[in-house]
This record gives sequence, structure tokens and C-alpha cells, in this order.
Amino acid sequence: MSTIDSLPIRDELRGKSPYGAPQLDVPVRLNTNENPYPLPEELVARIGERVTEAARHLNRYPDRDAVELRTELARYLSRTAGHTVGAENVWAANGSNEVIQQLLQTFGGPGRTAIGFEPSYSMHGLISRGTGTGWISGPRNEDFTIDVEAAVRAIAEHRPDVVFVCSPNNPTGTAVDEATVLALYEAAQAARPEHGALVVVDEAYGEFSHHPSLLPLIEGRPTLVLSRTMSKAFGAAGLRLGYLAADPAVVDAVQLVRLPYHLSAVTQATALAALEHTDTLLGYVEQLKSERDRLVTELRAIGCDVTASDANFVQFGRFADAHEAWAALLAHGVLVRDNGVPGWLRVSTGTPEENDAFLEAVRAVTKDLK
Ligand code: PMP
Repeated sequence: MSTIDSLPIRDELRGKSPYGAPQLDVPVRLNTNENPYPLPEELVARIGERVTEAARHLNRYPDRDAVELRTELARYLSRTAGHTVGAENVWAANGSNEVIQQLLQTFGGPGRTAIGFEPSYSMHGLISRGTGTGWISGPRNEDFTIDVEAAVRAIAEHRPDVVFVCSPNNPTGTAVDEATVLALYEAAQAARPEHGALVVVDEAYGEFSHHPSLLPLIEGRPTLVLSRTMSKAFGAAGLRLGYLAADPAVVDAVQLVRLPYHLSAVTQATALAALEHTDTLLGYVEQLKSERDRLVTELRAIGCDVTASDANFVQFGRFADAHEAWAALLAHGVLVRDNGVPGWLRVSTGTPEENDAFLEAVRAVTKDLK
């Protein structure tokens, strides 16, 4: 029997583990920051119509440039994110993970580096590795905000080609303010005077924030990119649709690495149907935001430490052994996420009933574990 290590894989992949949030069949699954609400029936029917129409043309390749979809995504951002953009500013791919991969294939790669401020979204590091980009783990403050001075120093020292800023940050829920992003952008440009460095603001959870989107910052900053997804606010994790907004030159640049026809006609049709129902879906976001705020309040009332959250999830603790607490909650039928942040766990906001079940389980297990 072969093992991975007996194969001629790239050296930097040896001994590494793949991304792997457990997909367990338990009553309450609050571990992958999905939206707990299924798509509304009218939207399901509209997807049926749009996909049926697309199916009539599946003998042909899809629109390679996804122009109609990018136009509608631009319209959505212009309406909701405080800055007017057009299709030329927007690029879409199969989940924001693929957007990030395309950015790293274009702006990172062998001999280049990317930096992120950890704990943060683990895929920034994993996709860096997958694209041959060196990964630099930058610091955060004790309260999980970005330590601006230390971050600026790290950028000056390492001169990375790509800087990741996750806001709201996964897994901590922490939003990053405009001044911090601007300081990091300036530092990144100063460290790389020839062409600048790419700053990727990952706003996968942007719609859930108490603060406005950082989208307006792309204006006049040709290497600042905002990354978004339909997996969370649009309740469409199964769709696999992520997108970016940036200077049109960035959109032209990622096309150097994208696979031809990467976004299937079925994906484009489904995403367009979902965008027709934006207002209904954003109504669910409002419900989730108030449930998220309730989780924060009630967890604090139970006596947990809770990191202020601008996302659809909440980081809570502190446990002497977070993994033991994770297992105890699982024994109560509630799956949360152990992101490996010592002392802390992360719970995604569910329906009010799921959140009640989670809070009940926390009450039961904290007595023994804290
Ligand atoms: N960025 C962040 C911060 C995330 O948490 C996630 C999903 N967990 C993604 C990007 C990727 O999302 P998707 O590929 O589903 O768009």
C-alpha cells in the first residue's frame, strides 16, 4: 500500500494535513459558519427556471467572462457596500477560496511570500502553500485585534508580495477598522516601491458586521482587493460562488491564471437567481445578526469570555482544554469548531432553536470544565 509520503509529492506538502472541518451527522451543526436558513421556496423555484434555461445550452461552453453575473454582483455591491463599482471592477470564481487561489497564482507563487495576522482564516496560509507562495505568520494583540505597529514592522522586515487582512476575522469575529487597513496598505507599498504589494481584504462575513464595508478603500488604490462570497450572507455555501472587487487591472491580471470556462453555466444561472432575491436573503442576515448579538450576551451571562463579534459566529472560552470542551459539547449533540486557538472555541449562529440548544449545552458543560 502506498502512502502520501511514498509518492513524489512536492517537499512543502510532506507531512501536512488537508483543510478538514469535521462533517458529522449530529442534531445541531454550528461548526462551519454556514447560514442555517435554507433558500426560500420562491428562490428555489427561480433557480429551477434559470438552470433549466441554462441546461438548454449546455452543449456550449459558458460565458467565459461571466459578464451578466459580474454586472449583477457589481450592482449588489454598489447598492449595499457604500461605493459604486462596475462589472470591470468585479471578478467571480468557485467560492472565495478560488478567488484567493487565483490572486496567489497571479501575485504570489514560487520565490514570493504572503503574510497574514494569526489566528485568522487558515486557508490563506494553506492556499499560499498550495501555490508555492511562502507563508509568514504575523502577530495579533491579546484581544485579537491587529497590532498595527507590529504588523507594519513585520511588513517592512519581510517585504511580502501579498498581505491578507480578514475583516471580520475568522475565527475571532474581530472587525478591522479603515485606519488599520490603510496603515498596512501604506506599509506594503513602501516595502515594495517598484510595483507595490497586493493587500487582500477578505470580507467573507462583511454583511454581518456592525461596521460598513471596506469596499470604498479600493478607490485610488490599485493593489487593494476586496474578497466576498455568496456562501454566508446569501445562504448559498453549496453554490460555490465568491467574487472580488478591485481596480480593473487586477481583474485583467487574474484572467492570466484562471482556467478557461471555470464558472459553469449552472453556477452562473444559480447565482443570478439568488441575486434576484437579495432583499429576502438580507432579511435573514438581519435575523442572524440579532441572534449573534444574543449569543454574545447570553454566553457572557453564563460566565464565558466572548470576543466581540462582527461575523455570523462567536468565539468563546476560555477553557483549560478547548478540545475537551469541544468533545463535551459534541456529547450534548452540538458540533462547534475547535480552530486550535488555545482556550477558545467558535460557534456559528444558527436558528433561534439551535442557538438555544447550544446555550443549554454550554450551561451543562461549563460547570465541569471551567
Ligand atoms: N474567507 C473566509 C474568512 C472564510 O471564513 C471562508 C469560509 N469559511 C472563505 C473565505 C471561503 O468561503 P467560500 O470559498 O465558500 O466562498
